[in-house]
Amino acid sequence: MKRLNFTLDADTIQLLNELAATYYNGNKSQTVRAALESLATHVRHDGWIITGFTPVVIDDEAYCHTCHTHYEEGNVLLRPVFERGQGPNALSHLPSEVWLECSQCAEQNY
Ligand SMILES: [Zn+2]
Repeated sequence: MKRLNFTLDADTIQLLNELAATYYNGNKSQTVRAALESLATHVRHDGWIITGFTPVVIDDEAYCHTCHTHYEEGNVLLRPVFERGQGPNALSHLPSEVWLECSQCAEQNY
């Protein structure tokens, strides 16, 4: 056991108090633990996550997967590299369609 100190805003404290009172006999440590376990099951999806990008010169017109901007052949777009991993956006299956991102979307979203 270890004692942690952290600061919560008034709304969060109120929520913690309500949840603790309703579900855990007022035990806040138990409430925080349950909240973290719940969060972990929600965000830790096992699957395929994007871990990087490979630049490709497109040999036909293409669209950005995220912003749907149209690009003519000869432009450089980025092809995602998928690896097994955990994350909120993990895909359960590798995509079977062509997936290309423009550099802006790749920088902003990954
Ligand atoms: Zn884009």
